[in-house]
Amino acid sequence: MEYEVVIGLEVHCELATKTKIFCGCLSEFGGKPNTHICPVCMGLPGALPQLNRKVVEYAIKAGLALNCSITRYGRLDRKTIFYPDCPKNYQISQQELPVCRDGFIDIEIDNGNSKKIRIERIHIEEDAAKLLHTDHETLIDFNRSGVPLIEIVTKPDLRSAKEAVLFLENLKNILTSLSISDCKMEEGSLRCDANISVMEKGSKEFGVRTEIKNVNSFKALEKAINFEIKRHISEISAGKQLYQETRRWDDTKNNTVVMRSKEFANDYRYFPEGDLVTLNIDDDWIEEIRKTIPELPPEKKKRFIEQYNLSKYDAEILTISIAVADFFEKTTEICGDAKATANWLMGDIASLLKENEGANFKPEQLAELIMLINEGTISNAIGKNIIIDVFKKGKSPKAIIEERGLIQNSDEKTILELVKKVLVCNTKSIDDYKKGKTQVVGYLVGVIMKETKGKANPQIVNKLIMKEIGKF
Ligand code: ADP
Ligand code: MG
Ligand code: ZN
Repeated sequence: MEYEVVIGLEVHCELATKTKIFCGCLSEFGGKPNTHICPVCMGLPGALPQLNRKVVEYAIKAGLALNCSITRYGRLDRKTIFYPDCPKNYQISQQELPVCRDGFIDIEIDNGNSKKIRIERIHIEEDAAKLLHTDHETLIDFNRSGVPLIEIVTKPDLRSAKEAVLFLENLKNILTSLSISDCKMEEGSLRCDANISVMEKGSKEFGVRTEIKNVNSFKALEKAINFEIKRHISEISAGKQLYQETRRWDDTKNNTVVMRSKEFANDYRYFPEGDLVTLNIDDDWIEEIRKTIPELPPEKKKRFIEQYNLSKYDAEILTISIAVADFFEKTTEICGDAKATANWLMGDIASLLKENEGANFKPEQLAELIMLINEGTISNAIGKNIIIDVFKKGKSPKAIIEERGLIQNSDEKTILELVKKVLVCNTKSIDDYKKGKTQVVGYLVGVIMKETKGKANPQIVNKLIMKEIGKF
C-alpha cells in the first residue's frame, strides 16, 4: 500500500521582551538560578498578574507578518495542569480567543513551486519554570517561569519531514527579522512539537496522530518525524492499532518513547482568567505595529535576485539575517560589484562573522577591498590573506597593504623577466605543454605567484606565459 504523511506543527517562541509577561522580572535567558523571580512568577497564592503590553504588540507583529487576521477582542484563559514546573497548577494561555488566526507561510518545495502552509492560530502564554534533573535530585529554576511565549499552530498541511523543516526555517527567519525573538533552538527560545499521522494515499480521512515533544534542533525535527513515519507505517502494515499519544524524541537513542496518552482540551478545564481584563485591540494600534514590520526574508530574497542578479541560493543565504542583508546592500552600493560582495560574505567572512559576533567590521572596508582587487592593485589571494586583519583590527585594507608592501605587481617588464627565468628552469613543463598538457600553465603561474609572494598580477603572468611558452 502507498501511504501519505500528514504533519502539523506547534511552535513555541519565547519573546524578547525586557520583562516577563505578567510581572516586572527580567525575562532574559540564563542568569543565576532563581534570581529573576517574584511572587507572581513563582505562582504564590494571592499574587496578581498584570499583562505586559509589549507581549501583545509582538504577537500582533508576528500575526501581521504571517498573514493572519488579528482579533479585536481577545481573552486570556487558565489551562489547568499539574506539573512541578508550574506550581499555581494552571498556565495562563489563550483558548477560544487567540490574538491571531488564519495566516499562512509560502514555502518553496521541489522545482521552485511554492506551497501554502496555513497557520491556524497564534496565541500568547507564559513559559513554565525549568526543571534540572541530576542523578539523585531535581532542581527547579523559576527564572524562565513567566517568560512570554507565542504558540504558532499550523493546519495539518505538511506532507514530509523536509517540508516541516523548510516551514520551520522560514518561520524562524521571519520571526528573527521582526526582532521579536532570537529564536535560538539551542537555548529553547524556539521549540517545536510535531504531530504526525499516516493514511492511505488519496484517503480523505486522516490517520491517528502522535505528537512528538522535545525536538530541539532542525536535524532532530527531521530525524524524529522520519522515525515516527516509519513506526506508523510498520504498525499499520502489521495490522496494529495506533494510539493518540504524546511521545518524546530521544536525541541520543534516535527514537521516540511514549510520555503519556494524549490529553484533550476537556482535560485542561480551560476557563477565563478572572484576574486579567479582556484584550481590546483597535485598528490604530494594529496600523502602528504594521509600520514597524521590515521587509521580510521571502520578499527580500525575490528583490535580491532581481535587483542584483544573484542566484537563488546566494539570495537565500544573504537574506536570512537582516544584518547580513544590510551589510551586503551597503557594500554593493559603494563598490558596485554585487557578485563579489556576495562571494565574500558567503565565503571567508561568513565564518569570521560566526566566530566573532559583533566584530568591528564595516561595509566600507569590504567595499574598499573589493575595489582594490577589481582595479588590480592587489590579487584575490592577497585579499583573502589580509581579510582577517581587516576584520579583527578594523583597519582599512589600503593601510594594511601599504604597511606590508603587498601592492600587486602589474609591470609587464619585470613579470616577463620572471616568466623567462621560470620557463628556462622548467623545460619538462614546456615539453608537456607541447604534448597537449595545457594544465602546466596553471602550475607555472603558481610557481611565479609563489616566487613573488602572491604579488604578481596573475592575469598578466598567465598572458605572458602563454606568449613565451610557444617560443620554445
Ligand atoms: P492539540 O492542541 O490538542 O495538540 P490541535 O487540534 O490544536 O490539538 O492540533 C495540534 C496540531 O496537530 C496542529 O498543528 C494540527 O495541524 C495537527 N494535527 C491535527 N490532526 C492531525 C493529524 N491527523 N495528523 C497530523 N497532524 C494533525
Ligand atoms: Mg498539541
Ligand atoms: Zn516575577
